[in-house]
Amino acid sequence: MTLATAAAIEATPVPEGAGHVATKPVLQLVGVKKVFGEFAAVDGINVDFKEGEFVSIVGPSGSGKTTLLRMLAGMESPSEGYITLRGNLINDVPADQRPTCLVFQSLALFPHKTVGENIEFPLKVRKMPPAERKERALELMRMVRLPESYYGKNVMRCSGGEKQRVALARAFAYDPDVLFFDEPLSALDYKLKKALEKELKDLHRESGKTFVYITHSLEEAMVMSDRVGVMSRGRIAQIGTPEEIYTKPVNRFVAEFFGEVNSFEVTERVGGWTTADGTVLTVSGVPDGVSGKATVIVRPETMRFVPAGSSADNTISGVIYNEYSLGSRMQYQVHAGERIFLVEASRTASGGLSAGDAVTIGWDAADAIVVGD
Ligand code: ADP
Ligand code: MG
Repeated sequence: MTLATAAAIEATPVPEGAGHVATKPVLQLVGVKKVFGEFAAVDGINVDFKEGEFVSIVGPSGSGKTTLLRMLAGMESPSEGYITLRGNLINDVPADQRPTCLVFQSLALFPHKTVGENIEFPLKVRKMPPAERKERALELMRMVRLPESYYGKNVMRCSGGEKQRVALARAFAYDPDVLFFDEPLSALDYKLKKALEKELKDLHRESGKTFVYITHSLEEAMVMSDRVGVMSRGRIAQIGTPEEIYTKPVNRFVAEFFGEVNSFEVTERVGGWTTADGTVLTVSGVPDGVSGKATVIVRPETMRFVPAGSSADNTISGVIYNEYSLGSRMQYQVHAGERIFLVEASRTASGGLSAGDAVTIGWDAADAIVVGD
């Protein structure tokens, strides 16, 4: 690969809209692949990360997330394609020579050192004088909400959440342009994870840095990110705002990544989009390029009970088979013929229904998602 090629793929300048910061790509990937033997762990990824953006990459285990991040952080070189940082090709620039920093789950803190020594490590490497170092470390500790009294504490005496904060403060001590995270919260308990998700989001906003965050949890990605990319078998199936991913998934894989859905295989016939048993479904808008065959997806939370005297664009009669409490909401399994449908409803909306009751379930055309595969 020559530098001329790198220049050719340099970021097209984006006109800077007043007050709009998140437009310029800081990192750009073009056709990035990583092949191990015969196997493409990352199989052709094109994506721009904009300045100051919080982008999460989600995907099942083995979909290539870590491999992608290792290439971004400089721990692996791509087999094909280009990675540019502010327009400079960085494919083969080693991790320690990139203005980026990776924070991962196995924290890689120095176990026999204090919180302060851990945070100051990058500053010491850069030969910052001790007094200045300490001042900066204390500033970073405030930023990640660690009490000042922890400065001299052995890092091994810190709790899981506190260690995560130390690791984060150390990452910020490098003053990187981009921070990469590889499932940093996955080992923590639910409550702590929820608290740290919010803190990370605050930290992102306060620092103005670009965050690229990898997780297998879509829920985590949705809470924190400006954009979410969904990975499947080495590729990005879709990237967009959490809202876009949720309301306009491009395929069944993305739609199902959110959890269980009700789906109908349909064929385009004279009368409309028809299921195998001959029911014509009312749909509102089929995406461009979809014809012949499609899948209609109705999320449990948009499927509802349709009481006598009220209506929905599509209805199915069935019998409640099972009910589960989700806390404030309930989920019902409804048997209809050979099939089982899922309906999620608030306790009040479903008041009084229980297993064995005959019900009509339904949904409006606008709530159905039509995908091509
Ligand atoms: P994820 O982080 O999404 O779980 P990984 O990027 O760790 O996925 O792995 C993607 C695929 O690449 C997996 O099938 C994994 O076994 C394979 N893989 C990762 N690293 C290597 C390697 N160094 N050598 C061979 N195969 C690898
Ligand atoms: Mg991984």
